[in-house]
Amino acid sequence: MNYNSTTDKNNVVSSAQAISQGIAEDGGLFVPQEIPQYSKADFQAMLSMDYRERAKKIIGDYLTDFTAEEVADCVDNAYTEEKFGSDNPTPIVSTKLNGVDMNILELWHGPTSAFKDMALQILPYFLTKSLAKKYKGKEAVILVATSGDTGKAALEGFKDVEGTKIIVFYPQNGVSPMQKCQMATQEGSNVDVCAIEGNFDDAQTGVKKIFTTPSVKEKLQANNKLFSSANSINWGRLLPQIVYYISAYCDLVNSGRIVLGDEINVVVPTGNFGNILASYYAMLMGLPIKKFICASNANNVLTDFIKTGIYNKNRTFYTTISPSMDILVSSNLERMLYIFADGDDKKVKSYMTALKTDGAYEVDEDIKAKLTEKFFGGYCDEQSTKDTIKALYEQSKYLSDTHTAVAVNVYEQYVMQTGDRTPVILASTASPYKFSKSVLGSIIPEESLCESEFDMVDRMYEVTGVAVPQPLAQLKNKKVRFDKVTAVKDMPEYVLGVLGVE
Ligand SMILES: *Cc1c(COP(=O)(O)O)cnc(C)c1O
Repeated sequence: MNYNSTTDKNNVVSSAQAISQGIAEDGGLFVPQEIPQYSKADFQAMLSMDYRERAKKIIGDYLTDFTAEEVADCVDNAYTEEKFGSDNPTPIVSTKLNGVDMNILELWHGPTSAFKDMALQILPYFLTKSLAKKYKGKEAVILVATSGDTGKAALEGFKDVEGTKIIVFYPQNGVSPMQKCQMATQEGSNVDVCAIEGNFDDAQTGVKKIFTTPSVKEKLQANNKLFSSANSINWGRLLPQIVYYISAYCDLVNSGRIVLGDEINVVVPTGNFGNILASYYAMLMGLPIKKFICASNANNVLTDFIKTGIYNKNRTFYTTISPSMDILVSSNLERMLYIFADGDDKKVKSYMTALKTDGAYEVDEDIKAKLTEKFFGGYCDEQSTKDTIKALYEQSKYLSDTHTAVAVNVYEQYVMQTGDRTPVILASTASPYKFSKSVLGSIIPEESLCESEFDMVDRMYEVTGVAVPQPLAQLKNKKVRFDKVTAVKDMPEYVLGVLGVE
């Protein structure tokens, strides 16, 4: 099976190439040319498999230029019991709010307590195997600019992975104390972390510049190294996310909550549109999903898009308590448009060009109709997010993080508006302990909050008795390894210095 660019159908590559390159030369995103189709018997067969076996089947059906052994090696190294705390990395908790049932799919039991681990624990294995096929013997240098979660998840994923080096830049004053601590104490022999004097955009621009500076590229080439990318438009980050929707469906059947063949709805707290798109791919493969409920925070560009067919990023940017969804350009929507446009690359290109030049585009009537048939968009403001955390905790003793709470709130809105009580899988994307201040402040009076992030973790545990993820609990005893700060203009020298390349 091959992949082509969303904006140029003639740009066709193998999966190893799609993963190595990350993004197509023409600026488009790689999409599979066919979708594997699963029958009821295929799902039936998956019922008796564990997570890793299901992952091997699904991933193997997409990475057809990998051998079965290679796929198995990727999966077995990524989703270990040691890293995810259990044999099933994505457990389901069934709970209830205001009489509405929901099955919460916890995607944050990995090493960094955010759902990005589900993709970033396996991407390094995809990438090193892809590079071995295409660029044998080269060392991959992964550069990441992060506003918090992605940097840490990428560091944990790539640490001590042979044939790779990873360097993460983050804005000196732009990440939470917990996130900073997570990165500054990172272990591993091939990792480096550096703060920059600037904001997230400066970090991102700096990284892009390093990628495209010819003199830097030449020096790398001369030393048998090449730059690669771990950001969320890489197909290698989307593919592992398809697995947990199919696996969760099987788990619901096995637990007797649904019968094989029953329809479900999914609810996803959405930023870059990667997670919800993965569930859409699962449906295209045959998983009976009726509605996709797309939940946003105050940055509700997707809510408006789903209602009107007009995508318009010319609006105020809000900094919220669900920061991983503070985003106005949802990159992976481009793949959705490609599917809805039946592979019309020129149409996709025209929308993306309009987005670049005007910051907005309007899809045609055909796409609008498909969008409203399958998607429901809703959003939730700050106060409602906190109220939802409180209500869910008080009614069901379920402690949710801010992002998950946005999804719960929007799902309630959906049920109120439609009366649709189809069984639901609701994606939970982070541990509540990653956002202790906002979560604790939702369930006890804000005035009583203590100062430091770690004190708040302890306090939240005292109040709720909900277990603190081990990696977060152990952070305060970890040694700070990285405390360097660099000016944006010095980033290229910094990278060459770390790599020992003159
Ligand atoms: C990245 C992230 C999201 C958004 O996921 P997308 O795939 O970008 O839509 C939601 N919640 C958390 C906690 C995240 O880290």
